[in-house]
Amino acid sequence: MTADQRLQEIRQEISTCQLCQLAKGRLNAVPGEGPSKVDIMFIGEAPGFHENRQGKPFVGQAGQFLDELLQAAGLNRDQVYITNVVKCRPPNNRDPLPEELKACQRYLDEQIALLDPQVIVTLGRISMAKFITGGRISAIHGRTHNVGNRKVVTMYHPAAALHQPNLRQTLIEDFARLKRFINTSNTTLPDIKEPESVVLPPTPEVTLTVTAQESKKQEEKIIQKESEEQKPPEQLSLF
Ligand code: URA
Repeated sequence: MTADQRLQEIRQEISTCQLCQLAKGRLNAVPGEGPSKVDIMFIGEAPGFHENRQGKPFVGQAGQFLDELLQAAGLNRDQVYITNVVKCRPPNNRDPLPEELKACQRYLDEQIALLDPQVIVTLGRISMAKFITGGRISAIHGRTHNVGNRKVVTMYHPAAALHQPNLRQTLIEDFARLKRFINTSNTTLPDIKEPESVVLPPTPEVTLTVTAQESKKQEEKIIQKESEEQKPPEQLSLF
């Protein structure tokens, strides 16, 4: 069986999955979208209102902003795979529970293994936590980490940036740096040695217009709290 065939099979399994309570409330599961041969994979948190209705990832207001961010990185949706750590919508967009994350883990793990991307971009702290232990998003947004044989780039969630104008610009700049990173490495990425966490090089500002508002209050609160704490960046524990 080819990787593409198995990815299709996983889609079917996800669409009928009953491994956690989120199955009861879903209209559609959202397995993810993109070609089966990609260099870059984007991983968000969980489907929201619109994704649950359409069965596709990032099609609401956060998705519109993600499209703009992809553009800032010189990418479009046809070139990348986009999915979430949890494939069904949590009620009222609450954070996925540990048992939901655990139940869904097998699907994301297999998608990553089949796609075998060189770069994984995490969107938000829930997705980041899958790869980075003990990192704070406010300290490590826009950074690249060696995780196994891949590069993991930890980004703020686009929805969080829609509420906080200062984060919006930060995200735009982080994605513009991602473009430089991709271009300079020509997708055959350099082997980054110690320190394992590196800040991507600065790039000119890119101006994008965002009109959307979307509910990600919990993430916002955490980001707000972290900004208020103003602690220096911590030592990362990477694997
Ligand atoms: N937020 C996410 O994390 N994923 C989506 O697919 C949509 C919104």
